[in-house]
Amino acid sequence: MNETASPKRSPAVFFDRDGVVNVSPGKGYVLSWEAFEFAPGFFELFSLVKNRGWKAVLVTSQKGVGKGLMSTDDLETIHRNMQDTLREKCGAEFDGIYAFTGKSDCRHQPKPDPEMIYSAADELHLDLNRSWMIGDADRDIEMAIAAGLEGSLRVRGDKPIKVEASGTVNSLEAAVAIFDGILTDETQG
Ligand SMILES: [Mg+2]
Repeated sequence: MNETASPKRSPAVFFDRDGVVNVSPGKGYVLSWEAFEFAPGFFELFSLVKNRGWKAVLVTSQKGVGKGLMSTDDLETIHRNMQDTLREKCGAEFDGIYAFTGKSDCRHQPKPDPEMIYSAADELHLDLNRSWMIGDADRDIEMAIAAGLEGSLRVRGDKPIKVEASGTVNSLEAAVAIFDGILTDETQG
């Protein structure tokens, strides 16, 4: 035991929300919990990440708040229900939730600025050099590159693709197969 050692930093998987955690609302916004539908395969993917002892961090843009289509309370209600469901289905929840809302008092910067990832790294003691991002949009992949993550995985969806990710899959089931080979076991010591 070395008492002068700094606390061990954990690797993390950063999750985009719409199009990864839940079914993409297309050009609109998920404005209520009733409209939030978990994406097929997400519970398996989330369970894999948590069972390996990795941190799971949500980094999401929810500009419907800044546009006045929903309130900050509405967004927090959706995320509270999401966390409750994850605890029930997977026995774990997101370690951190970072949302850019577009409101003037929002403390976060929009993607692809890596600020949300840097804030999470500070607050949750993350090792970004070993961390991954999963998202469906170019700005998610650009954010991962800007933050210096080890890699990024794109779930192909309804978004145009101009930026190449480290890997691309057509489904979350395929993402589980990829991450199964990437995520080291962090549950020991
Ligand atoms: Mg998305």
